[in-house]
Amino acid sequence: MTLEDVFKASKFPLSSEGKKFITDAFMVASEAHVGQKRKSGVDYIEHTLETAKILAEIGMESRTIAAGLLHDVPEDTAFTLEQVKEKFGAEVSDLVDGVTKLGKIKLRGSREEYFLENLRKMFLAMAADIRVVIIKLADRLHNMRTLGHLPSEKQERIARETMEIYAPIANRLGIGEIKGELEDLCFKYLDPENYAITKKLVKKHIHESDAYIKQTTDTYKKDLQKEGIPVIEISGRSKHIYRLFKKLQQHDMDMQRIYDLVAIRIIVPTITNCYEALGLVHKKYRPMVGRIKDYISLPKPNGYQSLHTTVFGPEGRILEIQIRTQKMHDEAEFGIAAHWIYTEKESKTWRNIIFRQNTVIPNKELEWVKQLQEWQKEIGRDDEEFLKSLKIDFFKNHIFAFTPKGDIIHLPEEATVVDFAYAIHSEVGSRIAGAKVDRKMVSLDYHIQNGQVVEILTSKEPRKPNRDWLESVKTSAAKSHIRKQLKKEKMP
Ligand code: MN
Repeated sequence: MTLEDVFKASKFPLSSEGKKFITDAFMVASEAHVGQKRKSGVDYIEHTLETAKILAEIGMESRTIAAGLLHDVPEDTAFTLEQVKEKFGAEVSDLVDGVTKLGKIKLRGSREEYFLENLRKMFLAMAADIRVVIIKLADRLHNMRTLGHLPSEKQERIARETMEIYAPIANRLGIGEIKGELEDLCFKYLDPENYAITKKLVKKHIHESDAYIKQTTDTYKKDLQKEGIPVIEISGRSKHIYRLFKKLQQHDMDMQRIYDLVAIRIIVPTITNCYEALGLVHKKYRPMVGRIKDYISLPKPNGYQSLHTTVFGPEGRILEIQIRTQKMHDEAEFGIAAHWIYTEKESKTWRNIIFRQNTVIPNKELEWVKQLQEWQKEIGRDDEEFLKSLKIDFFKNHIFAFTPKGDIIHLPEEATVVDFAYAIHSEVGSRIAGAKVDRKMVSLDYHIQNGQVVEILTSKEPRKPNRDWLESVKTSAAKSHIRKQLKKEKMP
């Protein structure tokens, strides 16, 4: 692999200065790693080129790609971080430093401790500059692709860590492409038997449907164009194998009951076109009841937007169809990395984009990063408590509920109306006097269900929180506020 392959893989054309910068980084990296080999026997520089290529594919800018090339330099070669800084500036050396630090995790302690320590590091890096975590994900993805060359005990440990930490983080950052591939690679090492079974099933069924997909996408394209709906792209693709296996498990491993084995994806210019295209699809093919999902009006917690429907397609075969704009598509595939592109201004780093006021905060989805930072500030040094709550909030499935004005509030599953109140604002939480869910009065330990409208009734003055709430609330924000208020009450 050559540097030219990295340039060619880039989702967006790189400027000539960008290419020059990346080339300089490549020269330094190749010299620093000269003579070093990977376990597979190839030159070490291959690994850094592959990492850079993944970053280019998901649309990262030149400094991040350069940092990807340099990511193992200070740790594994005689070339120091100081020298990286002198040559490439503080931004690149901070990125490289961040990635190096993420790699240094003590292996002592229980698995649980190790997991939390790992997670804490990821979080701290994320709060400082999300690009560090994106580089780490690219690095891990290439290491997973080449995991076969390591001894088997190592394979299992690395695959497990990837499944538990890296894939969920990729998911949380909305980088569906990386998440899907990481899970599939882990699946192969963690459960080889089921991996083989699923793979075989896929091979048989996908092979059968190739011609069908081609024919179906062609038909749709013609139909849409006839109605004057412009189409940017229409394609069919099969589900990632690990996700498919999870679904098969719920359906007695019966392939006939999986409706979205193959999804047809329609990309159109505008949101209006999305709904027009959906209408057209439904006019022609009967939709399946209960499978129409409008993630454009109600995005998933990780920011995912699209219209989904399942129809009885040509020849009566069941098909899932996803309709979205180009921007939604890029965000679904590349997540936060796509925001980087859509919001990039040369002088702004991620930190500024996310945390500084008066800059564009790209989307609701970045809220959780800010939330994490807030919680850590509040909980301060009490690390263990923080990590425990972080683990719950970070990985639990989320639900969303609405304020009467229609604002969306994301909460973990089983969150109560008290959690909801604190999620709106600590002032609302501290004055909660009652709550209505879908216009009916409920008790304060009521568990909110997905999609409900919650109205919080407040008193004029802050009220003493009930100690029992500490048992029922699920978010760390609510917990820490309640504790603080209780402490205050104790004071004379
Ligand atoms: Mn590496």
